[in-house]
Amino acid sequence: MSRLRMAVIGVGHLGRHHARILAAQSDVELVGVVDSNSDHALAIAQQNCTQAFDSIGPLFGKVDAVSVVTPTSFHHPVAGEFLRRGVPVMVEKPICKTVEEAEELIAEARAANVPLQVGHIERFNPAFEELARRPIRPSFIEAERHGPFTGRSTDIGAVLDLMIHDLDLILSLVDSAVRDVRAFGTAVFGGHEDMVNARIEFESGCVAHVTASRISPKPKRRLRVWAPEGYAGIDFVSRKLTLVQVSEEVRRHGLNPNSMSNAERATLKDDLFGKHLEVQHVEADRSGDQLTAELRHFIDCVRHNRTPRVTGEDGRDALALAHRVLDAVSAHEWEGTPDGSVGPHCMPKPAGLLFDHPAIDRDEAEAA
Ligand code: NAD
Repeated sequence: MSRLRMAVIGVGHLGRHHARILAAQSDVELVGVVDSNSDHALAIAQQNCTQAFDSIGPLFGKVDAVSVVTPTSFHHPVAGEFLRRGVPVMVEKPICKTVEEAEELIAEARAANVPLQVGHIERFNPAFEELARRPIRPSFIEAERHGPFTGRSTDIGAVLDLMIHDLDLILSLVDSAVRDVRAFGTAVFGGHEDMVNARIEFESGCVAHVTASRISPKPKRRLRVWAPEGYAGIDFVSRKLTLVQVSEEVRRHGLNPNSMSNAERATLKDDLFGKHLEVQHVEADRSGDQLTAELRHFIDCVRHNRTPRVTGEDGRDALALAHRVLDAVSAHEWEGTPDGSVGPHCMPKPAGLLFDHPAIDRDEAEAA
């Protein structure tokens, strides 16, 4: 079988890894890398023994598929140029900045009948893959995604940068339309929101609490699901899945502490997890990395013209929900009234003290 001719467009922080991984695939020929910063393109091309370009034009007619890893604002124009020419596209998340742009890419991929995959990489986290294989119908979901400020992806805020991962995962787990979204957030460094909490209510009654912050000292990426089938907790960083379900005995007879002997009640705390609630720690396969799995999946979809696990439609749906969260963040009234502070750029001013200010040597402070 001939090698798939591929290129990576945008080889910054993430794109350089796309290039490295694609260059290492025996069934792929990395035809080139493109970056508007030509020094950047050249350095990454040299590392991967391929050609450097500072625009996409020279690649037309020379590639069978591309990976688009530019800043989000350029996803739509760059991916569109390739889809219109019948070239399959893997585009990083979020698919685009607006739902209208996403719709256009979806229409172009459909017209050309080629795969369009969106880089919601957590779908390839082995712990999430393990969960997705199980029949779970969530009633309540809690998702947390915290990271330190990197200074990257400043063309978007925490919702389109981070929260969108969890919005996509939640939509893939909950088979119901969104009924209502409440949210609030703050823009600490200006520009866009850096910290957001959202409450999403589905028609099915399922509720999701989602928090994203890109100004946290420590990274944390967790998803917890409560369902009639049991509880599932994922730590995306360690790729661990914990499952808990009610034991057969308790399903049949219930658990009534009032009808227990004193001796039974005394051991209840120790017996709870294990005897009454069965616990399984699922060791997901951690041999490979997620980005390789995601790119391998895309290559297979292109070769066999299959529908990707994360389609353009999935990317659009996550984006549409993200925009509902952003609208709710913009409308949040911090003092409960439209006359007060409203939206992410308008936190209430500091007032009152939780403890006395530390004493400052004013002469020293002024000298500094
Ligand atoms: P980055 O700023 O480090 O890199 C982007 C690169 O694209 C830069 O080198 C820039 O010079 C280049 N570029 C800009 N406009 C271009 C254009 N029109 N044509 C060609 N090159 C262009 O950004 P990043 O952190 O690598 O993020 C890139 C994309 O990947 C963003 O959409 C981001 O949301 C996404 N991302 C996804 C994940 C994930 O977990 N899936 C993680 C990080 C970033």
